[in-house]
Amino acid sequence: PTSNAQNFDFFYLVMQWPPAFCNQPGARCKPRIPRTFTIHGMWPQTNSGGSPQDCPGAVPDVRRSGQVDEATLGLMDRQWPNLKRVRRGNGNSQFWTYEWNKHGTCSGWSLQRYFRATVDRASGVDLLRELRSNGIQPDNQLYARNRFGNALGRYSAVISCNNVRRRRTISKQIHEIWLCVHKDGSRIFPCARGTRFRNCGGGAIVFSS
Ligand code: 5GP
Ligand code: 5GP
Repeated sequence: PTSNAQNFDFFYLVMQWPPAFCNQPGARCKPRIPRTFTIHGMWPQTNSGGSPQDCPGAVPDVRRSGQVDEATLGLMDRQWPNLKRVRRGNGNSQFWTYEWNKHGTCSGWSLQRYFRATVDRASGVDLLRELRSNGIQPDNQLYARNRFGNALGRYSAVISCNNVRRRRTISKQIHEIWLCVHKDGSRIFPCARGTRFRNCGGGAIVFSS
């Protein structure tokens, strides 16, 4: 556990492509998942590659904490769904609580400020639209990695892949886009190290439907 919550330089706002999470072996997702990028989390990061985690300030349940206003919770329900199947309710708060306790606590912010900033920054980007306008759509086809890099070039983001079985072979697929957010939460900016691919291999990348 890190004690000083301010020891970071920027955030990664991590957006995930739900089909690429839910097509994993053993993923137990809800029967209906969004076909749009949704929030995974917003993670404090240091310029040297570290990510402080599990700082003081954990809560048992974000929704029931009384520390996030209803308007913000409503935006979170729409933009930050728990994709996993749960026993009752939508389970969203379980996911938010996990993310707050692991990452959000190290922001040094109140829950209200952290969650509001996360949904506000996420609502300002439409990654699917930007990909589509560059001819890239979720159609289970392969795209050259630089097409993703070019389409999202203005963010200099981290483009993160996982594996998917396709035609009896294992391919890389788009899983997450990590956008850089100023440490005061005010804006997305191009990541300092330029566009980077994480676990995407050297060949073409599938955009799963
Ligand atoms: P994955 O999505 O690969 O299963 O998990 C990535 C994990 O690494 C997450 O639990 C996330 O919290 C943590 N993480 C946080 N910051 C970084 C980072 O800068 N690089 C990497 N590789 N992982 C990070
Ligand atoms: P990190 O631990 O830093 O936040 O990221 C990785 C974790 O998030 C993994 O354990 C992954 O399974 C989890 N994750 C990704 N998407 C979802 C989701 O929609 N719901 C839940 N409950 N966990 C998720």
